[in-house]
Amino acid sequence: MKTQQRLLYYVLVPVVGLAVLLLGAAALRTTLQIDKARRQAVVDATYSLANERVDRLDRFIVGQDDTLGEAVDVGTPQTLTTQWLATAARQTPTVRAVVVLDRETRDNEVIAFVSRRPGPDDDAFRRRLVHRLLSRMKLDQPPLEQLRHLHTEIDGRSELLSYWHRTGNGRRYLVVAWHYVDKLVAEVMPKLYPDVDAASRMNVVDARGRILFGEPLVAGNLTVGVNFPTTLYDWRLNVALTRAQGLEDKVIRQRYVQVLVVLLAMLIAVAGVAIIVRASIQERRLAALKSEFVANVSHELKTPLASVRMFGELLLTGRVANDAKRSEYLQIIVGESERLTALIDNVLDFARVERGQEGYEFAEEDVAEAALQAADTLRYRAGQAGIAFEVDLEPVRARCDLRALELAIINLLDNALKYAGGSSSVALRVFRDGQEVAIVVTDHGPGIPEADRERIFDRFARGRGANESRVRGSGIGLALVRRIAEAHGGHATVVSPVPGANTGSEFAIRFPIRG
Ligand code: ADP
Repeated sequence: MKTQQRLLYYVLVPVVGLAVLLLGAAALRTTLQIDKARRQAVVDATYSLANERVDRLDRFIVGQDDTLGEAVDVGTPQTLTTQWLATAARQTPTVRAVVVLDRETRDNEVIAFVSRRPGPDDDAFRRRLVHRLLSRMKLDQPPLEQLRHLHTEIDGRSELLSYWHRTGNGRRYLVVAWHYVDKLVAEVMPKLYPDVDAASRMNVVDARGRILFGEPLVAGNLTVGVNFPTTLYDWRLNVALTRAQGLEDKVIRQRYVQVLVVLLAMLIAVAGVAIIVRASIQERRLAALKSEFVANVSHELKTPLASVRMFGELLLTGRVANDAKRSEYLQIIVGESERLTALIDNVLDFARVERGQEGYEFAEEDVAEAALQAADTLRYRAGQAGIAFEVDLEPVRARCDLRALELAIINLLDNALKYAGGSSSVALRVFRDGQEVAIVVTDHGPGIPEADRERIFDRFARGRGANESRVRGSGIGLALVRRIAEAHGGHATVVSPVPGANTGSEFAIRFPIRG
C-alpha cells in the first residue's frame, strides 16, 4: 500500500500532469496552426485578386504607350500631329501630350510638343519637364529603348509620364507621353474596377494613404495592399474580401472557443488528479484514525475489565472484611460493567450507522425519560469523581427513539465527566424551545478550542486537549451524537466557553417535536 501510494505521488501524478500539459500544448499549437493556414489561404486569395487588379491598370496604360510608340516616327516628328492626334481620343484616351526631345543636344532640346488640348498648362508642363522631371527619369540606364514610367508628385500634383528612347537619322531622341492622372482616376478606374464583385471591396491610396478611388476599408489583418508595379508605382491598391471580414470574426470566435475547450480539458484533468490525490490523502488519514480507534477502544475495554476482575477475585477469596466493603466492591463491578456496556453499545451503534443500517424505532415518547435514564447510568461515576449532576427536566413529548437518545445523552455526560473533571457540577436540561425539544449538557471544564469545535463531531476525531491530557476515548462519541440528532431531523452543536463564563462547554441536541 505504502509503495503504491509513493508511486502515485512521485511518479503517476507528475507523469499525468506532464502528459496533460503536453497534450494541451500540442492541441493548442495545432489549433493555432490550422488557424494560421486558413488565414494564409485567405490572404493568398486576396493577394492574387489585388495583383490581378493592379496589372489590369498597368496593362491599360502600357497598351496606350505601345500604341503611341508605333505612331511616333522620330525621324519626322511633325507626323505626330497627323498620325497620333487624329486617333488619340479613342486609342490613347489618357495621354494628354507627347513630347520629343533631342538627346544629342546639351539641353535636351524639345523638337516636338503635340497636345490634345493646347493651352497655358502645356507651357507650364514643358518647363516642369525640362527643369524638374527629366532629372528624376532613369535616362541613362540600359536598355535605353525600354519603356519606363515616372510616377511622382510635383507641387502637390501627381504626374505620370511614360518615356522611351528612339534613334532616327543617327540621333537619339526621347519620347515622353504625359498622362492625365485625373482622368485615370475619374474615368479609367471606375471602368476597370466596376463594383460588380460583391465578394470584395477595394480602394486606391496615394503614398500618404489618402484615398483617391473607392471607399475606406475596415482595417483588419485580412486586408492586403499592393503597389502598382510599373506605372502608378507610388500608389497602392487595397483589397479586402467581404467574406474575409466575416471569416475573420468567425476565426477569432472559433479560436476563443478552441482555446477555451483545451484550457477547460486541462483544468478538468488537473482537477481530476487533484481529487485523486486528495481522496488518497483522506483515505490514508482515515486508515490512521481507524487503527488509532481500534487501539483506543481496546484500551478502554481493558481498564474496566481489569477492575471487574480484580474486585470479583477479591470477593471470591471471601477475605473481604465487612458487608459495607462487599457492597462497595459489588457497586464498582456493576458500575464498571455499565461502562463496558455503554462502550460496547457505542461501538455497535456506530458500526451500524457506518454500515448504513441505522434501524431507529421512532415513537411518541417523553424525551425527559431518556435523560433520566442516562443520568442514572452515570450518577455513580459522577459521585466518585465528586461531580454533582444538576438535572432539570421538563416533560416534552416528541417523536423520537428513546434508546438512541439515551445513548447520545450518555455520551455527552460521559464526555463532561471525562473532560471537565475539575468542575464541581454538570447540568443536564431538557426543555421545549418553540417547535423544538432541546437537550443541553453544560460543564465548567476547560472548554474546547475554536479550531476543534467543528472537527470533534467527525468520526474518530479527538480534541487536542484529549490527546494532551491522555484521557481515554475512541473519537466516535460525538459523531454518534450528531448522527442521532440528524436522524431526528435536528442537529447537535457546541458553544464554548459557556455563555456568560470564560470556561466550560455547552453541548446541545435540538430536534423538531413533530419529527
Ligand atoms: P472521545 O471522547 O472518545 O475522544 P468524542 O467524540 O466523544 O470522542 O469527543 C471528541 C473530542 O471532543 C474529545 O476527544 C474531546 O477533545 C472533545 N470533547 C468532548 N466533550 C468535551 C467536553 N465536555 N469538554 C472538553 N472537550 C470535550
